[in-house]
Amino acid sequence: MSTNPSLRIAIQKSGRLSEDSLRLFKECGIKFDSGTGRLKSVASNFPAEFLFLRDDDIPGYVEDGVADVGIVGENVQVETAKAVEVVYKLGFSKCRLSIAIPRGDPYEGVQNLQNKRIATSYPVILGQFLAEQGVRADIHEISGSVEIAPGIGLADAVCDIVSSGSTLISNGLKEVETIFRSEAVLIAHPGLPAEKRNTLDQLLFRIKAVQAAASSKYIVLNAPNNAIETIVALLPGMKAPTVVPLSTPGWSAIHSVLSEEDFWEKIDALRAAGAEGILVVPIEKMIR
Ligand code: ATP
Ligand code: ZN
Repeated sequence: MSTNPSLRIAIQKSGRLSEDSLRLFKECGIKFDSGTGRLKSVASNFPAEFLFLRDDDIPGYVEDGVADVGIVGENVQVETAKAVEVVYKLGFSKCRLSIAIPRGDPYEGVQNLQNKRIATSYPVILGQFLAEQGVRADIHEISGSVEIAPGIGLADAVCDIVSSGSTLISNGLKEVETIFRSEAVLIAHPGLPAEKRNTLDQLLFRIKAVQAAASSKYIVLNAPNNAIETIVALLPGMKAPTVVPLSTPGWSAIHSVLSEEDFWEKIDALRAAGAEGILVVPIEKMIR
């Protein structure tokens, strides 16, 4: 267990989690040197230090307390089955773990996998899925290039990470079952000392502010005063929309925050209600 008071954060050295992990800390205003080849870096303006590791090693280091927290895909967190706390889902590096078979093979359901040889780097997650489905199959654990296994006669099916599916298609495979959905998660050593837990809470506060901002837009519009009531009813705002009079008599400006989700429906409704000169501005941080 580390006795250093700063929070030790493990992130992937290089790979599909690295860029978004670095961006997240940057947006949280935490400064550190992430130059290539570094193993460790101390933040200059936040009580944290960063360890750059292979993603597969991160849950183990967090369990052991070598790192206090870490960022990994849920697929790795579940597969490695280490005693760590999942603190927060981060919403990036989304992918799925799927079973795929040669394009020409028939498939009616999971029973078709009975007694088949399935190549995967995820024996734990696949084993759980097959057990739940009551399917007995032969799991071949291989560590990379799983998708070539059927082509070289090593397996009848594969179970691998898919994002777009193009790798499967180019290897003559078709996806038949999605067994797990994954995104990046922040994991923590269970029972962090209070001081580190505080720092983690501070970090979480910033992460939430960044994420809330990313899914929202600031909107400013002009409206005739007789339309204000209808327009205000359409707008949530942080508490309630701000309404300020314009120098043109009978008109006001309305300021509010819109969520990305129903953005265009709201814009259409606002225009129909009489809104004009609508400005939409990105929000950098949002503290509720
Ligand atoms: P390392 O060298 O650190 O062991 P790796 O090759 O095992 O890296 P990556 O391919 O960088 O791992 O993937 C890291 C994580 O990113 C995966 O565990 C998964 O959660 C997620 N991921 C994998 N493939 C994709 C993808 N195509 N799109 C989005 N996320 C993905
Ligand atoms: Zn890995």
